[in-house]
Amino acid sequence: MNPPSRRTFVKASVLATPLLLAQSPTLIAAAETAKLPLRVVCVGAHPDDPESSCAGTLALYAQAGHKVSIIYLTKGERGIPGKSEDEAAAIRSAEAEAACQIIGAEALFAGQIDGATTIDSARTDEMGKLLSSCRPDIVFTHWPIDAHRDHQAASVLTFRAVQAIKPHPHLYYFEVDTGSESQGFPPNTYVDVSSVLDAKKAALFAHHSQHGEVIWSKHHEPIATWRGREAGVPMAEAFFRLNRGPLAKTLPGT
Ligand SMILES: [Zn+2]
Repeated sequence: MNPPSRRTFVKASVLATPLLLAQSPTLIAAAETAKLPLRVVCVGAHPDDPESSCAGTLALYAQAGHKVSIIYLTKGERGIPGKSEDEAAAIRSAEAEAACQIIGAEALFAGQIDGATTIDSARTDEMGKLLSSCRPDIVFTHWPIDAHRDHQAASVLTFRAVQAIKPHPHLYYFEVDTGSESQGFPPNTYVDVSSVLDAKKAALFAHHSQHGEVIWSKHHEPIATWRGREAGVPMAEAFFRLNRGPLAKTLPGT
């Protein structure tokens, strides 16, 4: 029997796995067995969004030897009061680079402007080229129902880019500051991030200009704790996996 191709293998792993706790580490373990490093890409609107939402999961992938890239749609140009857009972009992209170093990821920037992102044909093509150049197996991005329009833009552009890649990479949506920003988020996948919590916090805290400690204590520590309660582990990150494959048997006796 011929060994499975990377995509066939990953797809088979996903289809064989119902919506379980720590599905991503299951993929990690499966890929390790087959010695197939996965290419994992996270698309966030601003520096600090990927770190808030899924730095733990990304760190787990990186620690297991997979290639992790983070695409920042903007450099957070309008996110530091009193600084020009250029100054803020320089500060925040350096913070993003530092956070990626902690996670074990490469940082890429898509070139849109914080607070002025657009969704049109040119931007769709741009994101399509950037994402496909990463040849992703797994993609993470913002849940699209979100109060922040830059988050909406990142989500829609990523969805369009994923649709254009054949076969489609697996797509997982993440939550950011749920209740204020992400809304109506219905997770169906949980990852236990207890073992990499220090890395997640350090990556978030690297965003000094955004007061990463406050983002953690006010927003994402309660979220990680609650998702952990839902999943029965100390701390978890939750995702919505877009299921485009055959339905898995998830109910006993069915
Ligand atoms: Zn954001």
